[in-house]
Formats: sequence, structure tokens, C-alpha cells
Amino acid sequence: MEALKLGWLGLGNMGNPMAKNLLKAGFEVVVFNRSKHKEKELVDLGATSAASIQELIQTSDVVITMLSNDEAVKEVFENENGLLSQDNPEKLIINMSTVSPETSRYLATICATRKIHFIDAPVSGSVKPAQDGTLVILVGASDEDYVLAKPIFNVLGKVSIPVGTPGKASSAKLAINYLLGLNLQGLAETIIFAEKNGVRKEDMLSIINEGACGNGITTIKANSILKDDYPAAFALKHLVKDLRLAKEAGLDSPLIHPLYDSYETAQKEGLGDEDVMAIITSLRNK
Ligand code: NAP
Repeated sequence: MEALKLGWLGLGNMGNPMAKNLLKAGFEVVVFNRSKHKEKELVDLGATSAASIQELIQTSDVVITMLSNDEAVKEVFENENGLLSQDNPEKLIINMSTVSPETSRYLATICATRKIHFIDAPVSGSVKPAQDGTLVILVGASDEDYVLAKPIFNVLGKVSIPVGTPGKASSAKLAINYLLGLNLQGLAETIIFAEKNGVRKEDMLSIINEGACGNGITTIKANSILKDDYPAAFALKHLVKDLRLAKEAGLDSPLIHPLYDSYETAQKEGLGDEDVMAIITSLRNK
């Protein structure tokens, strides 16, 4: 089979390293980003820059979108110069952004009316796994589309997990990010409680991460807590969005409401563009 030509739309914190990995793996990649200056790094590595979203889809077999939120994704699909503004039958679009299950089902429907194949494939894992090609990719796709996309997922992730039709992967993604939010809220509260009782955060982090309560995310975030510096790997505002989407999708458990309020308060305090671990800064001030 001839190698797939890929169009990449959205070169933010995640899109940039993911597109780079596809280039490194030998895929031909065309890129488009709203802020054009972010394309330069990829072009220097061999990507082609598309002048418009229409050109991106016309010149690619598969388009992958990695954008902030539902509004951004719907805009690039539906606006007058967007992905669906011209006839491009039999192309495949893979949305890897985190959006609501409802939006994913909607996108699948509007793609189908134009004979375009659609996969929702949000990812678990942040910038480091994106750089290392070790993301966990959740896939909502037909069997046929999954087979086509698998070589791409094999480059971007350590595993891709088909969970059903488009929309199911977005549901799975909201569920795993609820657990992420709980983990980081718990970690922050634990460190602050220990510090208030005279236990150094260095020691508390060792106690957590050397024992059964430690996990991947408590290990990854240890360094930023030690330095008290939270440059965005996963921006806090994106978790606020994901927890809101989970609530809207029916999550009504005892902890979701205070959890959402806690992160939303941190965003209102100006921490939205910091890493999600900056929740500890917000909680320290309480
Ligand atoms: P980001 O750094 O904020 O990048 C967002 C991208 O979306 C940028 O390329 C931005 O373009 C583009 N964009 C936003 N609004 C747009 C619009 N209206 N039209 C066109 N382009 C638009 O976000 P990220 O961290 O890469 O995250 C991307 C997605 O992955 C989000 O859904 C997030 O929830 C999810 N995710 C993130 C992580 C993580 O750790 N960061 C992990 C898993 C999943 P400009 O450059 O022009 O602003």
C-alpha cells in the first residue's frame, strides 16, 4: 500500500511533538496552524505548510486535528473555509482533541453525509509521552477505519485501544481525566496537609512515590512540586473543560462537583494557562 499522506491541524503543546514523530517515522506531513509561526519548526524538519485548511485536506489522505476544545474543532470542520467546505469524499479525519462525546457523534454524522470517514481518538498522556510516542490512544472507529489509522497510532502511542463507535472514545477520555483530576487534587491536598504539620514536601513525595500510593502521575508531577514551578504540559484550563464536559455527559458522583469547583476556582484565580499541577498553588492560598 502506498504511504499515507497526512495533514496535521493544530500545533499546540501536544500537536507539535506528535506531528514531529510522524515526520521522523517517515510520513509525508502537511501542516496547518492558525498562528502560522508555529509551523516553522515542523517545516524545518521537512513538513509542508498548507496555505489554508482546504488545501490541507485536498493534499492529504488523512487529516488529524489536535485543537483546544469543542468550539475550535467544530469551527475548523464547519466554517466556510473549513475541512467540510468542499467535496473530499473517502478522506479520513481523525480528531485527537478532547471533546464531548456529543460533539464526536455530531462530527461523525456530518462527515458521513459528505462520505468522509471519521475517527475520534483522544489521547491519555501529556507532552512527555507525546514526545516519546508513548501516548495511550483511545479509539472510536469502525473496524475498517481503525485498520487504516493503526500505522499512525503505532507511531504516536504505545498502545491504541478501540472502544467502539465514534463518541465512545471521548466518553472514555472524560472518564480517565476525571481520575487524573482526582489524583492531582489528592496529591496537592496531601502535600499541603503534610507541610502544615512540619513534614517537608521532599519527604512526603518520597513517601508517596516509594509506596503503593504512588503512580505514574504522582511521579511525573514530583519535580514541578519540588521546584514550585508549573509550566503547562497539560494546561489547567483544559482539565476544567474536561471536567465540565464530564458533568454535561452525566457524571454526577459525590466528588465531581467539589472537584470541578476547585479547578474552576484555580482558573478564575489566573492559573488556567499553568500546568494542571498548579492546583496546589490555588489550594495553598486557602
Ligand atoms: P494547546 O497547546 O492550547 O494548543 C491548542 C491548539 O488549538 C493550537 O494549535 C491552537 O492554535 C489551536 N486552536 C485553538 N482554537 C482554534 C481555533 N478556533 N481555530 C483553529 N485553531 C485553534 O493545547 P494542547 O495542550 O496541545 O491540547 C490539545 C488538545 O489535546 C486539547 O483538547 C486537550 O484537552 C487535549 N490533551 C492535552 C494534553 C496535554 O497534556 N496538553 C493531554 C491529553 C489531551 P494557535 O496556535 O493559533 O493558538
